[in-house]
Amino acid sequence: MKDPETPSEEALDFEETIAATVATSAAATSTTLEVAAANPLRDPRDKRLPRVAGPCVLVLFGVTGDLAKRKLLPAIYDLGNRGLLPPGFSLVGFARRDWKDQDFAQVTHDAVKAHARTPFREEVWKQLREGIHFVPGEFSDDGAFDALAMALKEIDETRGTGGNYAFYLSVPPKFFPVVVEQLKRTGVSQAPPGSWRRVVIEKPFGHDLKSAHELNEITTSAFPESSIFRIDHYLGKETVQNILALRFANNLYEPIWNRGYVDHVQITMAEDIGIGGRAGYYDGIGAARDVIQNHLLQLLALVAMEDPTSFDASALRREKEKVLKAVQLPSDLALNTARGQYDAGWQGGEKVVGYLQEDGISPDSTTETYAAIKLEIANRRWAGVPFYLRTGKRLGRRVTEVAVVFQRAPHLPFSKDDTEILGQNALVIRVQPDEGITVRFGSKVPGTAMEVRDVSMDFAYGESFLESSPEAYERLLLDVMIGDPPLFPHQREVELSWKILDPIEEFWATQGQPEGYPAGSWGPPSADAMMGDGRAWRRL
Ligand code: NAP
Repeated sequence: MKDPETPSEEALDFEETIAATVATSAAATSTTLEVAAANPLRDPRDKRLPRVAGPCVLVLFGVTGDLAKRKLLPAIYDLGNRGLLPPGFSLVGFARRDWKDQDFAQVTHDAVKAHARTPFREEVWKQLREGIHFVPGEFSDDGAFDALAMALKEIDETRGTGGNYAFYLSVPPKFFPVVVEQLKRTGVSQAPPGSWRRVVIEKPFGHDLKSAHELNEITTSAFPESSIFRIDHYLGKETVQNILALRFANNLYEPIWNRGYVDHVQITMAEDIGIGGRAGYYDGIGAARDVIQNHLLQLLALVAMEDPTSFDASALRREKEKVLKAVQLPSDLALNTARGQYDAGWQGGEKVVGYLQEDGISPDSTTETYAAIKLEIANRRWAGVPFYLRTGKRLGRRVTEVAVVFQRAPHLPFSKDDTEILGQNALVIRVQPDEGITVRFGSKVPGTAMEVRDVSMDFAYGESFLESSPEAYERLLLDVMIGDPPLFPHQREVELSWKILDPIEEFWATQGQPEGYPAGSWGPPSADAMMGDGRAWRRL
């Protein structure tokens, strides 16, 4: 399908998106500018006009869910507080509750008060409140979706939203097809001339290559590809976008960013929490599908890709696709992957139960809560450099980072004793928390001997910038409303990622129960064993 209103991927300019959260846009209206100018959160030295969404309705499915309450509703308020929502902006909640508009408004108000990043301001809330509507219903209920279509028409008439709708599916993945079908059936997925319709799909995009493909068939039967926004919220993080700035806005690192200097790369996303109340979602999915297929492979793509010719969506996606295509699995998966399941243990001074004892988990579940894999990239830049990816729940600490570990100096003109504790140079991109970059290198210890030891040089966002980083969902919601797709993976990237993961999942499916690891530790012993060649996971 063709969407005449969505700008072509080539026409979309991503240059501003790297360093700035507030950038130039011809779409800014005078009213929003007034709001933005009066906004105390804006740095008065920033002369650039903000990117502001045009009039539109955001329809949120799954408003009673965890993601909506913790992230999406607060992010919408934060956008309003930054002057980035148009005055006619309307929010429609859809859920199976017997609520009126005011009930949903109260839920939104509570979520904002509890989780918004920016201070609560009555006048911003009042403006947002005027556009809040609620439609009750089940996903299987045709009548509810007919009522939604009617409500959208009315909102267009009363609030001037011009038939521009974004549908955000913050619902369990098994409901993606039925909701998309309903949007197609009622005709709201088809944009009349002069308006736009977009759909936002949360991860995971499918369960494997086949289901991702099927989901895409359904989605593209209702919306053109250019109107489909697949959210991988990691790409909305400032620190992740900064990988592009670090690599392509500087000349310092690129000459050594290759097999000639890099020994290996470690990409880690560790969580200290267990599955919480999300047994229904997590069991049967596991750590690799939940995190490696999307967040970690996207990080790998950004770290390893060639420089795009520009930062528009198609150029950026093309380079990510090229590198994902070049990813190769090791031939011995038993040796080069690790899979674990947390046992009972201690975390933060508290005794916690094992995965199999969590509420809603079957006692013989083989779902992994820890996954680690070694990958190689078959191209001139990276041949022979292992990329180690790991993720897990109930690990020692919550941390996400990318560590580029360099080869040792080819010759050390010092005595062995003096360099005994010298490690390898490393550049570490701290994605969260404590966002920043650390460079580790050897330095002479003060004194008469020529002793050399590791030291660190640090860049911390909190110290270098006045403004606090927006939440990833603020950035991504705004991009959806503006129609700016570079930070959203294309279906081809999704499918390439499943092609990497599927053989590993198939292998693991033959291996029975995952190895246990104590809660609060750093994963199962096989994860350490898979490193080899004198390498070790970084101690975080
Ligand atoms: P959740 O807490 O389970 O919420 C699911 C929502 O869907 C609830 O509002 C639920 O309403 C609604 N729903 C379920 N069945 C329905 C039906 N038949 N008709 C109408 N509504 C129905 O899920 P979540 O954690 O918010 O996650 C939402 C999506 O975001 C998922 O795709 C998830 O994978 C993704 N995601 C979540 C997070 C996160 O941190 N939570 C992070 C990344 C991605 P009821 O209250 O009526 O059940």
